[in-house]
Amino acid sequence: MKHLTPQQLTQLEAALSKRHSELVNDINSELMNSDGSPVAENILEFIEQNDNSIEHLVTQITLEEIRKYVSELRAVERAKARIHDTSFGLCNDCSQEITFERLNDTPTAIRCASCLHSLSPTNKTV
Ligand SMILES: [Zn+2]
Repeated sequence: MKHLTPQQLTQLEAALSKRHSELVNDINSELMNSDGSPVAENILEFIEQNDNSIEHLVTQITLEEIRKYVSELRAVERAKARIHDTSFGLCNDCSQEITFERLNDTPTAIRCASCLHSLSPTNKTV
């Protein structure tokens, strides 16, 4: 991370903290129905009825979204933990420096732009 100035690191750390609280809020709101009741009640209801109602479908979609949020949340937490490490800002694949522009755009990035582009489209992660 020698290519990043302390100011840039502070900026990235702030962006990660902000994203972290956004994700926590998103997850909390995903766990609530639009009427404010907990989604967990739908899940319990589904388990009791054990039918393939539309509720099942809704629950699946919600769980899929929560899974997405949680995996991003983990990435944010990993980035926050690594930010003062010497490995922060270095590409996982080629060990080249990830530009500040890219990190500023995606603070959880673990690959440089050229390694990201060389990944197959089905396999694309940050
Ligand atoms: Zn790379």
